[in-house]
Amino acid sequence: MTFESLGLSEALLKAIVEQQYTAPFPIQEQAIPAILAGKDVQGIAQTGSGKTASFVLPILELFQRKKAARSLHLKVLILVPTRELAIQISEVINGFEQFLPKKVKNTPVFGGIPLNQQMVKLKNTEILVATPGRLLELVSTQSINLAKIEMLVLDEADKMLDLGFQEEVNQILALLPTKRQNILFSATLDTESKLIKDTLLCDPIRIEVEATEKNIDLIQQSAYQVDPERKGPLLRYLIKQKDMKQVLVFVSSVRTADNLVIKLKKNGIQAMAIHSKKTQGARIEALFSFKKGGIRVLVATDLASRGIDIQFLPFVINYELPRSPKDYVHRIGRTGRAEASGEAISLICPEDEHHFKIIQKKMGKKVTILPSDELNLTGM
Ligand code: AMP
Repeated sequence: MTFESLGLSEALLKAIVEQQYTAPFPIQEQAIPAILAGKDVQGIAQTGSGKTASFVLPILELFQRKKAARSLHLKVLILVPTRELAIQISEVINGFEQFLPKKVKNTPVFGGIPLNQQMVKLKNTEILVATPGRLLELVSTQSINLAKIEMLVLDEADKMLDLGFQEEVNQILALLPTKRQNILFSATLDTESKLIKDTLLCDPIRIEVEATEKNIDLIQQSAYQVDPERKGPLLRYLIKQKDMKQVLVFVSSVRTADNLVIKLKKNGIQAMAIHSKKTQGARIEALFSFKKGGIRVLVATDLASRGIDIQFLPFVINYELPRSPKDYVHRIGRTGRAEASGEAISLICPEDEHHFKIIQKKMGKKVTILPSDELNLTGM
């Protein structure tokens, strides 16, 4: 299938070429025509499936079809669970919008930075990408009016509930006009997101794509057995020996993240951490440097990693295993994205072995475990 066959205009098709997308991904094939037809859509799709463009493209197309002299009020609300995802979606919109003849302003808003810094940017915004808490703050200070919203997108709805945003989402839904188009994306169809689905969607078109298994097959997975005291040296050895230029390292605590960064830097490896104790500015800066190749290593905790989207990230290392198999799949899914292959390596201490067996069982894939005691780690 081609983008031409999905009902997009010449202007959008040009922008798509500029972004070097050649053919639509399965989620885009199904979602774009449905959204253009004004239908409610329920998509079950993971990050990496191309879900962002599947709603961004038709939204921009609908703006291109509007009268040139339209009034500049808020028309589309995209609700997301994290600041990183808000920024990322806004960047995807900008990526296409810059090539379009009719301009559409989008603004990302999220907590962690002063409210008035965001208030001043809202003028003439037609697409708002927001986290729930910050959105409600902006509503309560009357900086934003939701009365003329024509379309609501709820992205990563399951995470929104995992992070405890149910009440905020309900409050926001109550503020929206009842007549509107709704798009809901969720990685899983569990009970809670079904709850949202039932209250939110009207006769939706349901789209499900199998992203995980396909992506997992593209990822080369391995693990090293290692004693706890040799973990740091082994990490640095792998980074150097494999000449990793861009690697995302996962840890389970803020303290480990900060310690790792100190040790990596001491050993001449540029690194930054991204976790909940960092300010919003520091998180954005770390992500930006990492994306642009200014640092080789980004050390992240699970929550901070939500929404990190880097095209063709080649390496992910689990310095510490996550608690749940679901998080393991989510972590390694940061690599091997958009049909590019990637490598995921886990460091397994003796006490992790049982847990790692469970992860492999749940994932339905066996991971080769290599010994590390014969590796010469001196000087690492
Ligand atoms: P998402 O699932 O929206 O986070 O997208 C995953 C990645 O796929 C992003 O890096 C996109 O830039 C990329 N992508 C999305 N759609 C396409 C496409 N049709 N062709 C090539 N790359 C794409």
